[in-house]
Amino acid sequence: MNNSTDWDWSSFWEETLNQFRENITEQEWVMWFSSLEYISGTEETVSIGVPSSFYKDQISQKYGKDISTKLEEICGRKLNIDFKVQNKKQKDSFKEDIDADQDTEVSSPKKPEPNKNPKVNNISSASKHRQLNPDYTFETFVIGNNNSFAANAANAISKNPGTAYNPCLFYGGVGLGKTHLLQSIGHSIYKDNPDLKIVYVTAESFTNEFLDMVAKKNMHQFKNKYRSVDILLIDDIHFLQKKEATQEELFHTFNALYESKKQIVFTCDRPISELKNITDRLKSRFERGLNVDLKPPDLETRQAILMKKMEKRNISISKEVIELICQNITSNVRDLEAALLKLTAYAELVQKDISIDIAKEQLKDHFTGPAQTHISVDHIQKVVSDYFNVSTADLKSKKKTKAITTPRQIAMYILRELTEYSTTEIGYEFGGRDHTTVMHAYHRIESRMKTDPTLEPTIKNLIKTVIDAAKS
Ligand code: ADP
Ligand code: MG
Repeated sequence: MNNSTDWDWSSFWEETLNQFRENITEQEWVMWFSSLEYISGTEETVSIGVPSSFYKDQISQKYGKDISTKLEEICGRKLNIDFKVQNKKQKDSFKEDIDADQDTEVSSPKKPEPNKNPKVNNISSASKHRQLNPDYTFETFVIGNNNSFAANAANAISKNPGTAYNPCLFYGGVGLGKTHLLQSIGHSIYKDNPDLKIVYVTAESFTNEFLDMVAKKNMHQFKNKYRSVDILLIDDIHFLQKKEATQEELFHTFNALYESKKQIVFTCDRPISELKNITDRLKSRFERGLNVDLKPPDLETRQAILMKKMEKRNISISKEVIELICQNITSNVRDLEAALLKLTAYAELVQKDISIDIAKEQLKDHFTGPAQTHISVDHIQKVVSDYFNVSTADLKSKKKTKAITTPRQIAMYILRELTEYSTTEIGYEFGGRDHTTVMHAYHRIESRMKTDPTLEPTIKNLIKTVIDAAKS
């Protein structure tokens, strides 16, 4: 082929990617290939732009050989692929994010060739909505088996607010991406329809605002605000437990919005059926529409999430260390991120690369933490009562025989170890006991474990049963 133009090479490249795409998962595609940019080509080499050195290393290591083979197959000759880091201005920086109306691709001024690959889309969907965190967009959300249904639902809602799934509830343990998804919906709708009134609020702020307005006798202002929104995103509705007046107000807000087909999306840390002290009629509203749960990510997804976070922050950590983190931190994404942050802060401080040993040492506290997700009160009560062959009703009863107090205290102990429920909440779950009773039970078991050599293995076994059953 004489007289080859750039266009030829770029279409070879495009075809290579197209075919390559068939052999990888969508996740890999989005993660690694959607931000590649064809730069130029000669008879020896094609140059491909990548966003960072991290990308360059990862792509070359993971896919370099296979892409070369595919390219050779398509253009009939062996070509080098030169991945070039393009120094783009910080696309991800918060405030100067790309204007919503900008419809051209972001390209580096230094780039030698115009980008001819139409599939490349680097525009971040972070909008400038004041209440939304610019980091929480669909682009930065990694889709895995654990969350794909939720992510698809969120996406569908953002395309057709008020019709697709209305209302919609995302529930699951801490740090699994509920807030991230909820805010992604907000960003995405805002970007397409900047005139819609989109309100994101935590249930806690909603409550505080409501109480404040009641105190100031300004209820009409509150009603005006919430009953005129187009999209209402309420985070962490479990906070509303026992907040009766706020529940009442939300119930009416819900009805007003629902009747006028406004989109409502909630998140909660557990299924609605496990909420206590929420009026039945409000519960039935939450349960209407679609309820989707988010589960802890599997190993592959955890790795993809870490890669994405590293890429965003331009951090490079060896594959072995990433694997170490992902194998040891399984419960949620927030903990995963915390481990990454700790390591990078350390690396910066001592100015050296993170070895496996350094990582183990630095993260030992992170690695010992118990899994904290997906474990409900009922589940723990059931495992413990089955084991001791007492009924859960007995656990919650006022009975004080030893045959019952020991299992009860153990159940309280395990709840406190494995979940984030407060002692007040735990007390409530055991027949309305006081939080001091729960603290007492906890310390009692702790000290008994020191003196009774059989107790510790029993509790460890129970904890294992609880966790294993929660996983399945
Ligand atoms: P939740 O609201 O469920 O407690 P968050 O939405 O606050 O959890 O998520 C905790 C952190 O983990 C956030 O920084 C979020 O960006 C990140 N995260 C969670 N799931 C994902 C995911 N699938 N892809 C990328 N980041 C994620
Ligand atoms: Mg949250």
